[in-house]
Amino acid sequence: MSFSSLGLSEQLVRATTDQGYETPSPIQLQAIPAVLSGKDVMAAAQTGTGKTAGFTLPLLQRLAEKPRTGKGPRALILAPTRELAAQVHDSVNLYSKYVPTKAAVVFGGVKINPQMMKLRKGVDVLVATPGRLMDLYQQNAVRFNEVEILVLDEADRMLDMGFIRDIKKILALLPAKRQNLLFSATFSGEIRALAQGLLDNPVQVEVAARNTTAEKVKQSVYTVDQNQKTALLSKLVRDNSWEQVLVFTRTKHGANRLTQKLEKDGITAAAIHGNKSQGARTRALAEFKQGEVRVLVATDIAARGLDIKQLPQVVNFELPNVPEDYVHRIGRTGRAGESGHALSLVSADELKMLVGIEKLIKKQLPRKEMEGFEPKNNVAMKPKAKADPSKARNRSGGHGRPAGKPRSFGDKPGGRSGGRSQGGNGQRGRSAQSQNS
Ligand code: AMP
Repeated sequence: MSFSSLGLSEQLVRATTDQGYETPSPIQLQAIPAVLSGKDVMAAAQTGTGKTAGFTLPLLQRLAEKPRTGKGPRALILAPTRELAAQVHDSVNLYSKYVPTKAAVVFGGVKINPQMMKLRKGVDVLVATPGRLMDLYQQNAVRFNEVEILVLDEADRMLDMGFIRDIKKILALLPAKRQNLLFSATFSGEIRALAQGLLDNPVQVEVAARNTTAEKVKQSVYTVDQNQKTALLSKLVRDNSWEQVLVFTRTKHGANRLTQKLEKDGITAAAIHGNKSQGARTRALAEFKQGEVRVLVATDIAARGLDIKQLPQVVNFELPNVPEDYVHRIGRTGRAGESGHALSLVSADELKMLVGIEKLIKKQLPRKEMEGFEPKNNVAMKPKAKADPSKARNRSGGHGRPAGKPRSFGDKPGGRSGGRSQGGNGQRGRSAQSQNS
């Protein structure tokens, strides 16, 4: 199967050839004809599957088929984070190289005026985070009367981040006759409810979540005491001569602290999270991509949508509160046919989370100890420790639930966003939104 046999124009096919794509990915095989047919689409697809091209290429073709009449936007792509919005915008630019489509991106955390100016000149495709888009609408900087196609990208994450109200407001402002595309990694009840209200007889597209199978990603676990993790990470980076490693922490403060400690230890590192300015984040990512920074420390929200090619190594410095995030994290490695390695540093208070992750991925992760870093609490940390949450109590002193952690892995999205409000201020909803939009 080739891109042209899917019905894409020569100009769009040429753009994929420029990118070095040889064949469409499974999600593209299904999504491209569906979008071209003009139908609504509901797609279960994670980052790393090629979903962006899956909706962008046919969207561009649909727009090219009809002339522009006003200043647009004619296609609206909503994304949860600045990073994802910026990356989708980059993709739109790449794929629209040979068609006369104008694209723009708007997100919070940067000045609004330049975005207003851009919109005034007219755009065909607008990529936006919901909060900033509403701000622009309220300031009369954007109109929605020409929107023909709406894309909700990573819809599950948008709901997790408290964007539902803004999304509903935006939906109410769009022309009733339009094509809707909904992409989501997971399909919770809330997403299904949103889909039901939004989509008209949608074509359903699903591909095997490439990360749950994760054949290409080797996963392992080092059991280690919390206070030894930084030293162990430094050792691993050095001993294995890792030149590009993405490290996940649960909190923004944790990301900053770890970055500082690594730097002190002589390992170049940068943090990327929602408290950093957009400029700082872009710079950190660029330095990492160019190899000037060996370790990029990220929180889950900031890392979502990061497109870093062929990342060989991911480290979970702390396990995520939500098991699905583990799958997203390890999806950052082993991309595009490359093999990758995901390594988790797990302390006694995280054993329960580990068990939750293993249940989700239906696989026991091999546990190892590093000489000199053996955990003191050997009973709970035994490499083959079976799912016995009572053992995890020792450190947290609670009810088998680490202090300050959400109640369970299956928490409702609101709880998740609270768990992620990484400054520990416990604020939710709008605050998560303004931090991240
Ligand atoms: P996405 O899931 O949209 O974030 O895409 C993940 C990565 O796959 C991006 O780096 C794309 O450039 C790349 N990609 C998308 N489609 C293809 C394809 N058909 N062949 C090879 N790589 C692709």
